[in-house]
Amino acid sequence: MTSSQTGYFDCIIIGGGAAGLMCAAQTALRGKSVAILDHANKVGKKILMSGGGRCNFTNYYVEPSNYLCSNPHFCKSALSRYTQYDFLELVHKHNIPYHEKTLGQLFCDNKAKDILNALLTECDESGVRVTTHCSINHLEAIEPAPSSSSSNGQPRYRLQTSLGEFQAHSVVIATGGLSIPTMGATGLGYDIAKQFGLSITPKVASLVPFTFKGTLLERCQQLAGLSLNVTIQCRDQAFTEGLLFTHKGLSGPAALQISNYWHPEDVLKINFLPLEDISLGLEKWRHQNDKSSVKNLLCQHLPKRFVIEWLCQHSAMETMLNKTVFDLSNSEKQQLAKAIHHYTCTPNGTEGFKTAEVTRGGVNTDDISSKTFEAKKVAGLFFIGEVLDVTGWLGGFNFQWAWASGYCAAQYV
Ligand SMILES: Cc1cc2nc3c(=O)[nH]c(=O)nc-3n(C[C@H](O)[C@H](O)[C@H](O)COP(=O)(O)OP(=O)(O)OC[C@H]3O[C@@H](n4cnc5c(N)ncnc54)[C@H](O)[C@@H]3O)c2cc1C
Repeated sequence: MTSSQTGYFDCIIIGGGAAGLMCAAQTALRGKSVAILDHANKVGKKILMSGGGRCNFTNYYVEPSNYLCSNPHFCKSALSRYTQYDFLELVHKHNIPYHEKTLGQLFCDNKAKDILNALLTECDESGVRVTTHCSINHLEAIEPAPSSSSSNGQPRYRLQTSLGEFQAHSVVIATGGLSIPTMGATGLGYDIAKQFGLSITPKVASLVPFTFKGTLLERCQQLAGLSLNVTIQCRDQAFTEGLLFTHKGLSGPAALQISNYWHPEDVLKINFLPLEDISLGLEKWRHQNDKSSVKNLLCQHLPKRFVIEWLCQHSAMETMLNKTVFDLSNSEKQQLAKAIHHYTCTPNGTEGFKTAEVTRGGVNTDDISSKTFEAKKVAGLFFIGEVLDVTGWLGGFNFQWAWASGYCAAQYV
């Protein structure tokens, strides 16, 4: 069948973000007619705003353990069938300059647009129809109910949209998560999943800054803008990265990473000096016969603002830190070690979907084939990318999931 403005396509992909664009280009390479339908005014908006405008597009060290999912095995197959090196091949093919920033994180040298342009070129060259400003009003299976035996060329789905009716043999849901609604995020993917009988795991804003209230909030506000390297822990997970004090609480990579593991009421444990042992430091200063105040000695290892405004918060602590190491009692030493290495706090909440990078939770992977990404009980309906209950760490892992799931689904639609 031919494809007019509306009409029939072998595959219609709802959502032209990272996963949708990858899936579209790869599906069209297999000779299928493909249309992307997106309600936004342009596709790939999150790619453009990602990584501070430089898109942290993948990571050298991608492992299934970098992902959260109610089924920890679900992501293994796709991550091994389309790896970070496969995506790098695309990056090289399009001559995109890039660099490793830290911890294997790969960023564009110039701008995130380089990645979007590469994907759009791939779509264009393989004949994908990209349609923006297209709202999906209704998706339905064409009777008789879709059966896996029907061949390409036979419509199994009908889509009513603001641009008219489309029909497709396969439909791929690539609508992403709920974060940053102003960038076009909607819950359509979850609604479609529910409509076809799939279940959804609870959806929570993640990779997101923490908020505090009361005295702790005031203390964070005093230090707003200050960043220091910490180890932060929640439940059994820990990260050693930068922590940023903000006017609302705590942010920076350390806070965002641990937010993936945090549930309301959970305690955060923070080690403000992870690479040193303050007890050994006190011993060393004593050995060197250093008569400076402990406060001054600490300022050699921690930012001065942090020592003065955070550690010297209580007058008892300030009195203590004005002493020399020779005057500290054993219990004062323990108190100091606790304040520096074993600080605990309970966030009031997070900044929510307004600033979150991702949504934790989503379409339950129990209902999806990890090989094909097709809904197990609904032939021809596929789910890829962030709409699924698969959430990566900060550092290029979420895009790698989008590329990998998009690529794998494309082999089967
Ligand atoms: C500020 C920010 C920075 C980030 N930086 C990074 C980073 O550097 N590295 C990294 O790995 N990850 C990063 N992420 C996460 C990453 O952007 C996402 O995980 C990834 O884009 C998910 O891909 P996706 O294709 O599933 O969804 P998306 O890229 O979100 O695409 C979804 C598409 O669906 C469309 N859509 C939604 N609802 C509808 C509807 N009702 N009808 C039609 N179309 C619809 C949207 O317009 C959009 O085009 C960042 C996220 C944010 C918010």
